[in-house]
Amino acid sequence: MLSYNKSKNLCVRFVMPDARSVCSDENFKFSNYTTYRLGGGARRAYFPRNFAEARAAFDIAKQDGVTHFVLANGSNVLASDSDYGGDVICTRRLSAIVRVDEEHIFCLSGTGVGTILRYCVAHGLGGLEYLAGIPASIGGIVYMNGGAAGRYICSNVKSVRIYNGTDVVLSAADCQFAYKHSTMQDMDCIILGILLAVVREDRRETEQKISRVLQLRKNLPAGKSCGCVFKNPEGISAGKLVEQCGLSGIGSGRVFVSPAHCNFIINNGGSAIEVKELIDIVKRTVFLKTSIMLEEEVVCVGDF
Ligand SMILES: Cc1cc2nc3c(=O)[nH]c(=O)nc-3n(C[C@H](O)[C@H](O)[C@H](O)COP(=O)(O)OP(=O)(O)OC[C@H]3O[C@@H](n4cnc5c(N)ncnc54)[C@H](O)[C@@H]3O)c2cc1C
Repeated sequence: MLSYNKSKNLCVRFVMPDARSVCSDENFKFSNYTTYRLGGGARRAYFPRNFAEARAAFDIAKQDGVTHFVLANGSNVLASDSDYGGDVICTRRLSAIVRVDEEHIFCLSGTGVGTILRYCVAHGLGGLEYLAGIPASIGGIVYMNGGAAGRYICSNVKSVRIYNGTDVVLSAADCQFAYKHSTMQDMDCIILGILLAVVREDRRETEQKISRVLQLRKNLPAGKSCGCVFKNPEGISAGKLVEQCGLSGIGSGRVFVSPAHCNFIINNGGSAIEVKELIDIVKRTVFLKTSIMLEEEVVCVGDF
């Protein structure tokens, strides 16, 4: 059955796996769903709206024996220009927030950071303001253990509900959070939802904190990017290292290292392979000059 979703400008198809219907996008392209605005199509792309559909999409991909990729807000993804041979499970419609008690909220994994912060302001809750301005879903942030200004989401996570064929609830300790790492990165799973600790806070105070964080982020480079491309090696700023190696601004007019923040590679009308080639040049040069091998924070998907 085909139907057109005008508000989302999507042509959607409803399939019936095991009597459950999962919404899919026949015209899916990574370039429409990543902040780099790059990447080709996929074999199939599912947009589950609830846990049952998320489990079904995961199971279908496994049954078919094809590779699959969980895509959230695509703000840390570099997808290849050629089509991806597997299935994509996109979580951006898996979005809702439940107030569990005075100090906890439960968020479906695709819920956007901005949506969560607006909810917190409306309900007099604080503790997550440091996430303001990160163009991510909460599932993506938890998977990456993302954060800003020295705070990481692990400090708010109480538990994470995942599906890997069965539902499993991981405690924060089970998640083995470390710098830009969670145990979910080592598992074949989809994060369904996260229980977060929050605090009661006057809404004006929350708003002011959010404004201050957004003000500080104004200096980040504009343009299509994935934020920081590289992890900071052992407390050293990867951006400073890239700059000290004389790589500020290198590249072409189409794809270049941002002079404003050398850990950002900006796409200005280029291709995914050009971004990947520039990443490799930066890594090689930094290694030759410092013996430090930078490690990508950005997640590459598809063939490069
Ligand atoms: C302008 C800009 C600024 C940024 N600033 C920051 C910053 O200040 N701090 C920071 O930490 N990051 C920052 N980032 C990077 C990015 O926002 C984070 O890495 C974020 O965690 C990615 O979340 P996402 O929802 O976009 O996930 P995606 O980019 O879609 O996915 C990232 C990874 O998480 C996996 N994943 C996502 N959701 C799930 C799920 N439900 N189940 C299983 N796996 C999942 C994906 O498979 C992928 O491997 C920035 C990016 C941009 C473009």
